[in-house]
Amino acid sequence: MTAVDAESRPYPVIAIDGPAGSGKSTVSRALSERLGVERLDTGAMYRAVAWAALDRGIDLGDRQGVADLARSLVITVGERVVADGSDITEAIRGAEVSAVVSAVAANPAVRAVLVECQRQWVAARRGGVVEGRDIGSAVFPQADLKIYLTASESERARRRPEEGADAVARRDRLDSTRSVSPLGVADGARVIDTTERSVEDIVEEVVAWL
Ligand code: C5P
Repeated sequence: MTAVDAESRPYPVIAIDGPAGSGKSTVSRALSERLGVERLDTGAMYRAVAWAALDRGIDLGDRQGVADLARSLVITVGERVVADGSDITEAIRGAEVSAVVSAVAANPAVRAVLVECQRQWVAARRGGVVEGRDIGSAVFPQADLKIYLTASESERARRRPEEGADAVARRDRLDSTRSVSPLGVADGARVIDTTERSVEDIVEEVVAWL
């Protein structure tokens, strides 16, 4: 199936975007359990490519080289994240990967490869909860429901103690100012500030919109 076919078919898709530490993973996990549909963490895919580039010593400035790597890598994202047979679930959350993943994600050729995989993932399941930075704006602009999560800067830094406030702020800045599919509130997205809200409360609100 081509990317165009996958995008134009009316699969039920819930797009969840937002900056680091805004609660995307927690909310999308709870929502997918509540609705009985699968969840795709697209950030884990960008992290897997960044991890593999570091592992293989590929220069991140070599856009074609990193894109070729993304194309050849077999990535499985579920409860565990596996790339070419290696379980990298923990490794992709480390500071080394977090420090370079935004540069990898700013590479348009890498995005083209991963967006195609994301659309195929949804087409194969006929829907799902998909979280990331550009899901409602670029990957599934026709999503049935678009949510943009946010939280105060201090709360988001508090949720990422291992990364640190400065690194989180830098990553968000890079993600929201890149030229291709920058992080932002997609047209038609509902914005939820998760700073002082419980997960259950947010899930109830989202389900009521469906
Ligand atoms: O969601 P997570 O923080 O794990 O994402 C890691 C990085 O992957 C982000 O900082 C961003 O650079 C990139 N990303 C992206 N588009 C997505 C998901 C993640 O550019 N849809």
